[in-house]
Amino acid sequence: MENEVRKPANFIEEFIEQDLASGRFDHVQTRFPPEPNGYLHIGHCKALCVDFGIAEKFGGKCNLRFDDTNPTKEETAFVEGIQRDIEWLGYKWDKLYFASDFFDRLYEIAKDMIRRGVAYVDDQSPEEMRANRGTLTKPGVNSPYRDRPVAENLDLFERMKNGEFEEGSRVLRAKIDMANPNVLLRDPTMYRINRHTHHRTGDKWCIYPMYDFQHPIQDAIEGISHSLCSLEYEIHRPLYDWFVANANVTDQPPRQIEFARLNIERTVLSKRHLRRLVEEHVVSGWDDPRMPTLVAMRRRGYPAAAIHDFMGRVGVAKADSVVEGNLLDHCVREALADTAPRAMAVINPLKVVLTNWPADKTDTLTIENHPDHPEFGTRQVTFGRELYIEREDFMEEPVKKFFRLAPGREVRLKGAYIVKCEDFVKDESGAIVELRCTVDLDSRSGSEGANRKVKGTLHWVNAADAVPAEFRLYEPILKEDDDNAVTVDEDGNTVEASGDFLDKLNPNSLTVVKGFCEPWIAGHDVGATFQFLRMGYFCKDPDSTDALPVFNRTVPLKDSWAKEAKK
Ligand code: ATP
Ligand code: MG
Repeated sequence: MENEVRKPANFIEEFIEQDLASGRFDHVQTRFPPEPNGYLHIGHCKALCVDFGIAEKFGGKCNLRFDDTNPTKEETAFVEGIQRDIEWLGYKWDKLYFASDFFDRLYEIAKDMIRRGVAYVDDQSPEEMRANRGTLTKPGVNSPYRDRPVAENLDLFERMKNGEFEEGSRVLRAKIDMANPNVLLRDPTMYRINRHTHHRTGDKWCIYPMYDFQHPIQDAIEGISHSLCSLEYEIHRPLYDWFVANANVTDQPPRQIEFARLNIERTVLSKRHLRRLVEEHVVSGWDDPRMPTLVAMRRRGYPAAAIHDFMGRVGVAKADSVVEGNLLDHCVREALADTAPRAMAVINPLKVVLTNWPADKTDTLTIENHPDHPEFGTRQVTFGRELYIEREDFMEEPVKKFFRLAPGREVRLKGAYIVKCEDFVKDESGAIVELRCTVDLDSRSGSEGANRKVKGTLHWVNAADAVPAEFRLYEPILKEDDDNAVTVDEDGNTVEASGDFLDKLNPNSLTVVKGFCEPWIAGHDVGATFQFLRMGYFCKDPDSTDALPVFNRTVPLKDSWAKEAKK
């Protein structure tokens, strides 16, 4: 193994190999730095896979750091949720840090920078600062306070900290270059006044460090070798390097490397947008199964293995792209294929009466729980005169290639008997409410007559003991692709480029239907996953009651009929 030549799997690994070979670093230390202002979404998983995966690959370590420098939206509940999500994915962090643990240290570093003449207190209003920043084509204008003496800066900064000034009245800025072609380097803000109570430090502070100042210095203090982040931070890299160089905290500056964000078709992957969905009650909460958050995916029934598989397939690239939503569905199906027992539920029921089956007769059938896994065992399913089948499994006038039930047609009821549709009953509105069928009593599955072949096999439940159940069916939350382009604001928050995404919501993202399931299924715990024959994979939801189990459709099966019908 020692001599084996390891091929880098992506450009990040290539950079790291170079850094280890050149002696720039002799170890790999990464970090995952979420802001605790929401729950993790599948986009964060990509960063997690990169941060933890790279550390593991190079025998290094990855810290978990909560970037809690903006008290306005941060909460302890998110801190706890994020840790649960990371553990669920199976990652183990090395050290756990909070940026807020370093507020004292950062304050001292800022004062030191003032003393060395590379930071100053600016009294300009936010509007004046904005106006004087210049544009991409026009250089900025120096602040009239840029050259105030060190002692005055130190005094004002201390008074900012002591709460003597209003929010927005003063900031601490780095003295870099107001004419720099990269606007971010035009004397960026290091500290601003914010009087919100912080989720950990309470009211101890009323000044908070800005992302561009805090993040690189925190990386340096933690001894991070490779600071891996998404592509929108690329233009922040000169600033990152400047702060590390000017903070005097390390002689081994960390290296920032950017990779493409994960975007998925018709999926919202901006925490800010996700917050809006929650706050404006478009969804029931962060764990609404339509959300792309890990809490929601877990509730919907996605196994962690599917997410790892997905991330492996998406890979790590330097250029942005949008991944098809189908790919994640595919990974979920693959992960569940061998783990979810098969069962029967009818989500849109149509009653079937077997006219030649005595009303008081019940047959008990033994059905295997998984066709490929005998170790999953079998279960007993009762069969009587009245059953339910799926409404879409009957057509009064069958179209070509429809092999399910129609007048005069025969199908096999899964694991049971062959039945033939003799007649049907309509209500006043013309809707079909009942099928009248005869059953071939010699065709019981497992018996001799069972060898007779019919084209279609349908799932069903026995009306006498079927349990009423609710089924929640999902579609992507957006009806069309959102513009996923993002930039980063001064708080390090990702800001979307254009339009109001609420206009793009898919009105059919949730469909609730009432049907029936086998009694066996109803008795399982919340979180249990099944494949309901032909209907897809479903997971029992926490909203379930004893009277009404609720199932989320995790993912539909690939519907061969839908494909046929399109031909
Ligand atoms: P915001 O900054 O608006 O709160 P965010 O999605 O950037 O939202 P952070 O908590 O700052 O959330 O992100 C933590 C880490 O996850 C960052 O390093 C960020 O680059 C990374 N990240 C977030 N979204 C994605 C994504 N879609 N693809 C890859 N990495 C992402
Ligand atoms: Mg961010």
